[in-house]
Amino acid sequence: MHRSKSAVALLAVIFLVKAGYVIHQRQTRPTTTTTSSTTTSTPPSSTSTSLFTTTTLLSGTMASAVVATPTHTGPLDGKTVVLDPGHNGANWSHPSIINQLVPDGRGQKACDTTGTATNDNYSEAIFSFTLAQRVREILLANGATVVLTRGNNASVGPCVNTRAEIGNSAHADVALSLHGDGGSSSGHGFAVLVPARSTTNGAVVATSLQFGQTLVNSFQSVMPVSSYLGVQGVQLRSDLAGLNLTRIPKVLIECGNMRNVGDAGLMMDGAWQNRAAQQIAQAITIFLTGG
Ligand SMILES: [Zn+2]
Repeated sequence: MHRSKSAVALLAVIFLVKAGYVIHQRQTRPTTTTTSSTTTSTPPSSTSTSLFTTTTLLSGTMASAVVATPTHTGPLDGKTVVLDPGHNGANWSHPSIINQLVPDGRGQKACDTTGTATNDNYSEAIFSFTLAQRVREILLANGATVVLTRGNNASVGPCVNTRAEIGNSAHADVALSLHGDGGSSSGHGFAVLVPARSTTNGAVVATSLQFGQTLVNSFQSVMPVSSYLGVQGVQLRSDLAGLNLTRIPKVLIECGNMRNVGDAGLMMDGAWQNRAAQQIAQAITIFLTGG
């Protein structure tokens, strides 16, 4: 589990390519394109996807995973983290793709869904993708190799089972799915969804719960625990393919309720997103390093 960074990255690429994904390494490390004194906590906006070339898979629109190598050494040297931003920006216009049934670890379910949005039509897909980029920048600066399950917000999917397989194939140390909930507008707060035991994930149920509780502890400094999901911010789930099919420690965070005006105001705010990313990165670091 303590392979070198380069070996881990190489393995990730090899496995994903073998699995049929076309991977594009970062063409440019972000810090090499900026002046050295302007290292900032503000990550690239969604336009930063220009750092990656996109690819075409199923029906010419399916997203592919992207692997980014560390920008600095740090406490996460040698670690690989999978960030899985939920949904995708073009899911809504490709129902025939996202409605196809895929294995979910207990039966079958739809490849993906469109996700929710705020009253201002700020979509869960762009929220999760933006937040993932902010978290990635922090992790890269702390030595981690980071795999995003989708490299842009303008395509479709990948399917939920593929999102799990990306993490498994990369032999990542931990994986986190990023979402926003679409609950009743009166409900507010965040929840971390942790895997119930399946035929696949048995070896990582306990460590996933440990990671989930670490994430709750960190994230509640930027958002209260949910008033309607789970108990003290944690909910055990057996219906999510990404958790049923994982072989690495993995949880899903609903960062807030996008249908709640108060939560939505935070989730649309770049400064809050930066604070949220810091807390997520902190939780990942604590989980992977023991503090
Ligand atoms: Zn979602």
